[in-house]
Amino acid sequence: MSDYSVFLPSYSIGEDVYKKIPEICKGYGKKAVVVGGKTAMAKAKEALLEGVNDSNIEILDFVWFGGDSSYENVEMLKKNPIVANADMIFAVGGGRSVDTSKTMCDETGQALFVFPTIASNCAAITVTTVIYDADHVFKELYFPKKPATHCFINTKIISEAPSDFIWAGIGDALSKEYECTFSSRDDELDHTNLLGVDISRNCVEPILRYGRKAYEDVKIHKVTRELEQVILNIIITTGLVSVFVINDYNSCLAHSVYYGCTTLENIEKNHLHGEVVSYGVLVMLTCDKQYKERDRVFAFNKSIGLPTCLADIEVEEKDLDKVLDKAMETGDIKHVPYKITRQMIYNAIMDLEKVVL
Ligand SMILES: [Zn+2]
Repeated sequence: MSDYSVFLPSYSIGEDVYKKIPEICKGYGKKAVVVGGKTAMAKAKEALLEGVNDSNIEILDFVWFGGDSSYENVEMLKKNPIVANADMIFAVGGGRSVDTSKTMCDETGQALFVFPTIASNCAAITVTTVIYDADHVFKELYFPKKPATHCFINTKIISEAPSDFIWAGIGDALSKEYECTFSSRDDELDHTNLLGVDISRNCVEPILRYGRKAYEDVKIHKVTRELEQVILNIIITTGLVSVFVINDYNSCLAHSVYYGCTTLENIEKNHLHGEVVSYGVLVMLTCDKQYKERDRVFAFNKSIGLPTCLADIEVEEKDLDKVLDKAMETGDIKHVPYKITRQMIYNAIMDLEKVVL
């Protein structure tokens, strides 16, 4: 019989959401330290201070997380006496910054509250963290015991971030439903996986419906219902899926294509993770012969400038050997309903080149 615990994320969303800090954090202590990226902290500082104003929670300091999610930075933060003496860590920023605090708090046992300032991934909600080495190269995944105690999603601050973050976030979020339902297809799912896969079925429709409007709104820094729905999709829906499902279901061929592309200099230099993943979604849907879905996503990508062909991500046919070598090595395509061969991915890419809508 099983013997396990599931710790679920909790969150608040709104333009004035930091005003809920005293009420939500009060059981966890009085002294908080903000740890985050420099830009993120500058953007959130005023609202955070206002949020704890007139409460018995004090923000002791704003500390830079070190620039990358690495064990070196976790150690650096743990040695900072102000950080070490805080009851609560307020992690502010994007994925790498939040992941650094998640790893640290798992080690120190400090209460962690997360304040995402961009919506480009679900790091604020997931349990897993991505660790890079001191040279900024991916090292490994780290698995804390539970997610942050609470996540405060300030839609106003997120709407003020550069629109590229949401744009790429949309591209990445598009992959979740397709990858999760594909990699779990034909499996007999236990309780948590069943819940996670079912939650993943709510990713694509809101993105296709609201994505374009949300992207337009964020360009003019306007908080709208559409933007809110898309932010929730990128941070919460995909995050909940990750919390429930085994890692095999979390990503699949769209991400393998992305990792394959990262072997090329132009991808690293000029293109964002979610942007390339959204191209990978098209390759995956073509490979799995889901042409109707592929065409829907193709039209959506075109409508907001996400890639639909190799040229859009500056990849040439001659680069494909390198891309496919790497893609075939990735663990993302190991747990799939049928064997995915190198030739199948190549054919899907070439088929996709011929699509004109
Ligand atoms: Zn991704």
